[in-house]
Amino acid sequence: MYGYHGKTLKVDLTQRKIYEETFDEEFAKKYIGGVGFGFRWLYDTLPAKTDPLSPENKLIFATGPLCSISFLGSTGISVATKSPLTGLIADSDMRGRMGGVLKGTGYDALILEGKSSEPVYLQVTEHAVDIIEAKELWGKDIKETQEKILSKINDGEAVVASIGIAGENLVKYAAIASDLRNFAGRGGTGAVMGSKNLKAIVIRGKLKTPVADAERIKTLIKEVNYLIKTDGSCDTLSKYGTWNTTGPANFKGILPTKNFQKTTFEYIDKIDGDAMHNSIWVGKRTCPGCAIGCRHMVKVEKPYSVSPDLEGPQYESVAALGPLLFNGNPVVIAKANELCNLYGMDTISTGVIISFVMECIDRGVLTEDDLGFNLKWGEGEEILKAIETIAHREGIGDILAEGVKLASKKIGKGSENWAMHVKGSEVPMHDPRGKKGMGLAYATALKGADHESSMHDEAFEKENALPDLGLKEPMSRKQFDGKPFLVKTLQDYWGIMSDALPICKFPMIPPRPLTPARLVKLLNLVTGWNFTIEEFLQVGERTFNLGRLFDAREGISRSDDTLPRRFAEVLSEGGSAGENLDSDSLKTMLDEYYRLRGWDNEGRPYPETLKRLGLEVD
Ligand code: SF4
Repeated sequence: MYGYHGKTLKVDLTQRKIYEETFDEEFAKKYIGGVGFGFRWLYDTLPAKTDPLSPENKLIFATGPLCSISFLGSTGISVATKSPLTGLIADSDMRGRMGGVLKGTGYDALILEGKSSEPVYLQVTEHAVDIIEAKELWGKDIKETQEKILSKINDGEAVVASIGIAGENLVKYAAIASDLRNFAGRGGTGAVMGSKNLKAIVIRGKLKTPVADAERIKTLIKEVNYLIKTDGSCDTLSKYGTWNTTGPANFKGILPTKNFQKTTFEYIDKIDGDAMHNSIWVGKRTCPGCAIGCRHMVKVEKPYSVSPDLEGPQYESVAALGPLLFNGNPVVIAKANELCNLYGMDTISTGVIISFVMECIDRGVLTEDDLGFNLKWGEGEEILKAIETIAHREGIGDILAEGVKLASKKIGKGSENWAMHVKGSEVPMHDPRGKKGMGLAYATALKGADHESSMHDEAFEKENALPDLGLKEPMSRKQFDGKPFLVKTLQDYWGIMSDALPICKFPMIPPRPLTPARLVKLLNLVTGWNFTIEEFLQVGERTFNLGRLFDAREGISRSDDTLPRRFAEVLSEGGSAGENLDSDSLKTMLDEYYRLRGWDNEGRPYPETLKRLGLEVD
């Protein structure tokens, strides 16, 4: 095989058993890699109702064929598990080097199961796999953990992925970080790692994975990089990173503000791309092999210290720790983001749960006495205190660490009405009232509300956005018509396939140059296969359906494909004034979406759908 070693490393932390398994080319063609491999193995080995924080749960790090090269973030990795936040299947893509370096050990994937009796870290090299005692690392944040391990092994090319204190404390939205800056953020992968008493994974490997046509790969990479530099489509992303989205989101009235009570922010001029550049930005970073370089280094000295060593806040973190909390202070955003990174906590979920508490206080459902401190809109010190409280599960932080769905159930008094989640996953920073496709994507995403499972509506307002995928007609972001086909297609293409290959999602957004045709060509040049775009899309569809079957086995049905009630309220101001997304509109979109997916009225794939996709399930 080209692009694969055909080997998986399995580690049982209970028994301290280490063994290899193999897979063949037929399996590779059917699921490609990354999230495809992860979902297949989870479906096959995890009985229904397995406790996500029990030793039986699996934590799967899977590469794909493009990890064999270095191009637009292709050396990242997919992390898949059963989520402690939702009880459903989850994957989170981690950019950076971990996928490329894992390939360098001769393995395509790493499957962890069981639970160590004491804190350990795992070291994987080309020559050996070791489970190493890590008591002295327990209780350390992500930076200290990674620095201590690296100082021991003295290998500048090693990758360390670790959890912080939030993962140790089983915060249900704890993250895993590699190289301090790349996060598997959503769904609580860090809590699963913590439940196994596994503090870190160190990977060192330099083996090359053979590719089918190295020369033509080079030519294709050159062509795409030339377009990235010259066609203008990536210019604002390159200059501002994802901060290029903040001002436009406010202008369009889709920027969640005050726990989604509004969608425009009074202090936008303090936190938009230019403002962030002029206040906290000190430089940019790039993933391996990327000609765009959208990532930020930020630095603050007073009144808090924020180090440029960690990852600066991307759009989602700016919005979740800024307008969502009615906070217009870039310094507080930078510090809050750094705390989440050091503790290893998803910034979206953290922001949503803090804004939920702020609204509880506003409405008299919680008081300062319940919290032990106050938590008012926009108060920086109080926001930072709330993050500390959650990471350490102190006082009310113990409830907030469970996620907004469970927290609202425990707090009661009607607070479920402003708990912004879908299937237990906190809603990301795109209000779906102004972009209806995103609403349908939130309702149907396998892991609950997720902004990376489908491309966003704005990219399809011009005609011929992705003609290869049948997306030729222009569609307003506010319209309902056509959105079921859009979402279904993009869930399979963008949501799944980018994490199966893997490759960065940003250059795939039209009119950027990583088109479906070029992506499929790249896959074929790496593997020596002859995939068509249709066959490529079908892998995404197969994987998506497999994920749905997993979730259905856990009890998910049509009644769970829903949205928070707040989105039925009509927006009264801003660029989406007059818009809402109520249950009747969602029902109409869902009917069409299920029909296109080949699912019954409860959202279960029909037997003929499974047959068409070649999905063997029990
Ligand atoms: S566009 Fe940004 S996230 Fe994507 S590969 Fe490049 S630097 Fe990484």
